[in-house]
Amino acid sequence: MQLIDGRALSSKVLDRVSSQTQMLKKEKNITPGLAVVVVGDDPASHAYVSMKEKACKKAGFYSIVHKMPESISQDEIIEIIEMMNKNSHIHGILIQLPLPSHVDTNKILEVIDPKKDVDGFHAYNVGRMVTGLSSFVACTPLGVMKMFEEYDIDLQGKDVVVVGASNIVGKPMASLLLNANATVTVTHIHTKDLASHTSKADIVIVGVGVVGLIKENMIKEGAIVIDIGINRLEDGSLVGDVDFDKVAPKCSYITPVPGGVGPMTIAMLLENTLQATKQIKGNR
Ligand code: NAD
Repeated sequence: MQLIDGRALSSKVLDRVSSQTQMLKKEKNITPGLAVVVVGDDPASHAYVSMKEKACKKAGFYSIVHKMPESISQDEIIEIIEMMNKNSHIHGILIQLPLPSHVDTNKILEVIDPKKDVDGFHAYNVGRMVTGLSSFVACTPLGVMKMFEEYDIDLQGKDVVVVGASNIVGKPMASLLLNANATVTVTHIHTKDLASHTSKADIVIVGVGVVGLIKENMIKEGAIVIDIGINRLEDGSLVGDVDFDKVAPKCSYITPVPGGVGPMTIAMLLENTLQATKQIKGNR
């Protein structure tokens, strides 16, 4: 069994982003800029935002965080996004999800200028990704694809089961795998017999948010398991959706939590923001 080290790979990506940022600054006087909008007091959302802020600072990016109260109206959020769309120092806009229930998330995401949609959630970018055109791609699935590339894991013809079908994780993950010629099955809360699918798969990718969902008897010998889930236990520790200790010995490759997909998501966000900067400034 080999661990897929998301921390090491993300440092490699971030080092490259930092050095390209230094070059952009020196040669063109351009600094990549990322705006983050976070609504409400959810501690997990604020923790993710502060990690993104730190990574931006380390890479030499300009970053601003708009912290808004839970009670803010949809129109006020739209106003802020429209301001960021026009701000020439900002090349990437990220809305930290989830948003409060009185806000229509899809409507908010549609307001982001697709050229600054570094999370790849705008329908314009989603449509381009599905059709295999160049686009911004959601950071978490993009990070998983980078892991496959780094570890020389060939996806062509592989049976891959994606567990979880959200717009930000499972659906874009499935599209990218299909574009890479894998045979993809997408499962979700209404799937009748999850184990019947996962136990036949060459690769299982799970992003659900249920501790211990994927058990030893649901994985075939030699399978590759990618755990996107992040769950905080009562003692404060983080675990994924996979019963890691029992599942890992059966796998050829597996990602740990923490230290797997999580760090890759942030690295891809910075990479996407750097690309957005180059595209907007015509430096591609
Ligand atoms: P979500 O709630 O939007 O979607 C969850 C999906 O899982 C849904 O499609 C649902 O049908 C499915 N599901 C729920 N229970 C299930 C079950 N028992 N069996 C099969 N499918 C089931 O969540 P999300 O935003 O997609 O996030 C999913 C998980 O991934 C969470 O733990 C989240 O914290 C994590 N996440 C991690 C990263 C990262 O960087 N590692 C990024 C985004 C999300």
